[in-house]
Amino acid sequence: MAVPFRRTSKTRKNKRRTHFKLSVPGMVKCSHCGELKLAHRVCKSCGTYKGEDVVNND
Ligand SMILES: [Zn+2]
Repeated sequence: MAVPFRRTSKTRKNKRRTHFKLSVPGMVKCSHCGELKLAHRVCKSCGTYKGEDVVNND
């Protein structure tokens, strides 16, 4: 198994980790109830998608 020749310096490690960012999920307002929801997903609070009720289908 290959072993690193030199240990990774603090600077190099920290520079690499500048790309480790948290990405904020795309939140949009629900067109039905106005609640913040994830884009392209069914609304959590009212259960609609594209203005249609997809959770309580009866
Ligand atoms: Zn909604």
